[in-house]
Amino acid sequence: MHPERVLGDELMPVYEKVITGKRLEEADGRLLYRTPNLTGVGFLANIVRESLHGDRAYYVRNQHINYTNLCNKLCKFCSFYAKKGGPAPYTLTPEQVKQRLRQYLHVPITEVHIVGGIHPKLPFQYYLDVLQAVKEVRPDVHIKAFTAVEVVQIAEVAKMGYEDTLRVLKAAGLDSLPGGGLEIYSERVHQQLFPRKIGGDEWSEVARAAARVGLSQYATMLYGHIESVEERVEHLVRLRELQDETGHFLALTPLSFHPEGTELEHLPHPSGYDDLRNIAVSRLLLDNFPHIKSFWVMNTPAVTQVALWYGADDVDGTIHEYEIVYQDDSPGERHQVLTRQQMIDLILEAGRIPVERDSHYREVSSRLEERVLSGRI
Ligand code: SF4
Repeated sequence: MHPERVLGDELMPVYEKVITGKRLEEADGRLLYRTPNLTGVGFLANIVRESLHGDRAYYVRNQHINYTNLCNKLCKFCSFYAKKGGPAPYTLTPEQVKQRLRQYLHVPITEVHIVGGIHPKLPFQYYLDVLQAVKEVRPDVHIKAFTAVEVVQIAEVAKMGYEDTLRVLKAAGLDSLPGGGLEIYSERVHQQLFPRKIGGDEWSEVARAAARVGLSQYATMLYGHIESVEERVEHLVRLRELQDETGHFLALTPLSFHPEGTELEHLPHPSGYDDLRNIAVSRLLLDNFPHIKSFWVMNTPAVTQVALWYGADDVDGTIHEYEIVYQDDSPGERHQVLTRQQMIDLILEAGRIPVERDSHYREVSSRLEERVLSGRI
């Protein structure tokens, strides 16, 4: 293989940095976003991806619970919150949370992912009761819950600082924080699209508090709306700096913006080309993040298969009941599921080795995967 044939003169300087383990700079990030040579960018990202994870592609068996769609933040990119002519309002009681969990008790789910809108009237006890409800039905499951925006709200009703609030939530069963809420660090985008919600500095403060109390966390980047290339690069570099400081982030998920049902419906949907580029550039700039995820619900299973050669090592989960992106006529009842077998087939067809993981990327059932690979089941 002659890398210069794929990379050309333009990307060879980045290749030299990648193979010698030198940290990429912001200018490299901008070049990787602007070059028409997406194949070259993917080639570079794949070098990093394979040096970290070989042919392994991770997935998790998880269930999502969105406890309320009432929200006072009114983000312009959001189709999830209850509004006139949009989704009908709902708030799950802790008992209803239990019912949701019991529906899938036959599935060996290892992670429950809980997020919701910012409902100003829910008391602190509600959040503790939701955690307790999960622990009652599934005592061994990992609970990934409450974005930094929700943590700010919970701290407000708890009348405590972020660190104390997180400590109490952890004692009640919280294991890690999901990545949402930040969207993109740019203050310009913050002011234009989600001014009622916390900005990047406060999001980072919650992340630091999470690290101090021993909670791991995930990160995201919402792209494909009004952000510029410079703002994408700034976002990734700021996350990298934060990770240098805390070391508690497990993965980044670049999230493709879906305009349907939002105030930005006039914007085009990001292309598969853009999805792959964001995954590849994230892999290359975030040299201190162990994992880059291609979230199949947003990117489609088809793009996710290709993404496994463009820097992604994780396809997220089987996902029972995800309600954030699309709404149908029965709010709270939408099911988007890939079975475990479909997940395995998707990864195998892409030429990678499926590995079921838990929320800390520990292997769950390698023996089973080996049997699948050898055709014995
Ligand atoms: S993105 Fe979150 S905070 Fe913003 S409106 Fe939607 S539910 Fe509320």
